[in-house]
Amino acid sequence: MIKIGDSWLILVLGDITQQKTDAIVNAANSRLAGGGGVDGAIHRAGGPIIDEECRRIGGCPTGGAVITSGGNLKARFVIHAVGPIYRGGRSGEAELLSSAYRSSLELAEEKNLKSISFPSLSTGAYGYPIEEAAQIALSTVIDYLKNQQQGSLKEVYFVLFTPGDYRVYAQVLERIAQKEG
Ligand code: ADP
Repeated sequence: MIKIGDSWLILVLGDITQQKTDAIVNAANSRLAGGGGVDGAIHRAGGPIIDEECRRIGGCPTGGAVITSGGNLKARFVIHAVGPIYRGGRSGEAELLSSAYRSSLELAEEKNLKSISFPSLSTGAYGYPIEEAAQIALSTVIDYLKNQQQGSLKEVYFVLFTPGDYRVYAQVLERIAQKEG
């Protein structure tokens, strides 16, 4: 957990569908069609309202994000972020992954939300190496919080699903925090 301005960045081990933050972020695909992994879990837990809203929106480019209501979830909103499929690292993946996080934070601020939870975008079925992805995820959020316009976001959580993923994020955050002094 580290403080950036008057906001907190917090790592937790757990299931993102159980989070009580204003919004949770889904690792969506560009058709917003639902799928496996965290996407499937969020659609199941949130119920058909989320499917309907996704169908109405129709799709989202890689690196972007869209927002729906949270249906039956504890969170009021789901932000569907589309991370890149990892294809070796030379196809703009880093910038697209960073952009997916930034787009989500922008949507949350537009809605004046105070708290948001992210999963580890792209590191499951999309194959992004987790150390690199964690570095991009954490530094993008930290940069954003340092420069946020309205300043509505007070708590940003990363909800890691496995102890191994949690450990990687914790190590990368430790390194970033040391560098920042
Ligand atoms: P992607 O297609 O973007 O790679 P995945 O859903 O396959 O998305 O995986 C992204 C990450 O989400 C993986 O690290 C996976 O372990 C994690 N994950 C799966 N289910 C959940 C959940 N219920 N809560 C939080 N994280 C989850």
